Amino acid sequence: MTASSAPYSDHSPVLAGGQTPVRASSALPDFAVLGGGLCGRLVAWRLAGAGHRVALYERGGPEGGESAAWIAAAMLAPLAEAAVAELLITELGVASLETWPRILAELPEPVFFQRNGTLVVWHHADRTEAPLFERRVRANAPRELADANFTTLQGAQLDAAEPALAGRFARGWLLGGEGQLDNRQALAALAAGLEQRGAETHWHTSVDDASLPRARVTIDCRGLGAKPVLPALRGIRGEVARVHAPGIGLKRPVRLLHPRYPLYIAPKQDDLYVIGATEIEGEDRSPVSVRSALELLSAAFAVHPAFGEARILELNSQCRPTLPDHRPALIWDGGETLRVNGLYRHGFMIAPAVADEAVRVAQALLAGQLADADAFESLRHESRWASMLHARHMQGAREPA
Ligand SMILES: Cc1cc2nc3c(=O)[nH]c(=O)nc-3n(C[C@H](O)[C@H](O)[C@H](O)COP(=O)(O)OP(=O)(O)OC[C@H]3O[C@@H](n4cnc5c(N)ncnc54)[C@H](O)[C@@H]3O)c2cc1C
Repeated sequence: MTASSAPYSDHSPVLAGGQTPVRASSALPDFAVLGGGLCGRLVAWRLAGAGHRVALYERGGPEGGESAAWIAAAMLAPLAEAAVAELLITELGVASLETWPRILAELPEPVFFQRNGTLVVWHHADRTEAPLFERRVRANAPRELADANFTTLQGAQLDAAEPALAGRFARGWLLGGEGQLDNRQALAALAAGLEQRGAETHWHTSVDDASLPRARVTIDCRGLGAKPVLPALRGIRGEVARVHAPGIGLKRPVRLLHPRYPLYIAPKQDDLYVIGATEIEGEDRSPVSVRSALELLSAAFAVHPAFGEARILELNSQCRPTLPDHRPALIWDGGETLRVNGLYRHGFMIAPAVADEAVRVAQALLAGQLADADAFESLRHESRWASMLHARHMQGAREPA
């Protein structure tokens, strides 16, 4: 896809002649980052670390409770996700898995991070799901990645790998090298990192498109909150349970294949488990339905009956910010604004690589290197992730198909 056929219409205000307002003053911050969920925090933190003056605006508080990131299981599973995602996502995920430890090492607060792989299991009655899953993963992931990390476990091998599930499943797969982190610790540590790097943080500040904060460059990371300017964006509801289940001791995220409700159980620190997640079209932020709660909790109970004695700490829902092609996108508006969106169900898995690319484009904008469409095209050609970069050119932008 070429930049001139931008697939996502951008409804930001445009002056006559196709120029967006120029905001140049040395008193202005270099960057205003709109939205301090996962992506906004990471981008702002990276830019502040590079010595820029950054102001971040977030409608919620520093804990991140208004973001999709607050609800996420934060599994970093590029191979497991290849069952439902294309190559771009897998590659962004593989690159990001290597970057997360470096990011976390620089943050001022500890964040639980683990790379113990993903265990995939299924009940005998659902065994026809297994070859389908394997076929989809192998079709979408790079061959070397799948060959190196897809290990079949039978009987005693599975019991040895995950003793908590000994005797419960006849077969499974260990997807090596995959990881997870604690989403809420990561959001808190990034907030602390922003303070440490001297970024201006405006918590509890909702940004209105009619009166944007002034800055030399604006980076819009509002997730679903960017819908007024990205009408193609949609939400996909996800519901999760957080339970406290001492004594089970899963060593890694477990995915249960099922024809109707594939489930994961992600063990965090202190016997906390995130059990998820539904995937329902729509932007309904109402509480978790009885049906979803029953499905999630009974599936966990079927993986290990000790989940029957777990204590439910939270049942919660959020909407994943999703573009029509289910891919992340960096959309330059042709002026001084870059929008970073569409992280869908892979935000944690791909955020480091997406944020790195956003920083590169944003710095080019600040340096005045994106004067026209040709300049954008050459930036795009240099990018490993060119298919993620889009521009609304001065003329010729069209509505999404
Ligand atoms: C149930 C569920 C499970 C998930 N599990 C995983 C997983 O295991 N692994 C994984 O990689 N990803 C997972 N995700 C996906 C991940 O959470 C998202 O992809 C990611 O949070 C998107 O990041 P974002 O910064 O674009 O959006 P968000 O995290 O939603 O952040 C957007 C921020 O913008 C703010 N905002 C919106 N409008 C405004 C405004 N007008 N003014 C100021 N601020 C505003 C919001 O308050 C919010 O804080 C899951 C998501 C859900 C819902």
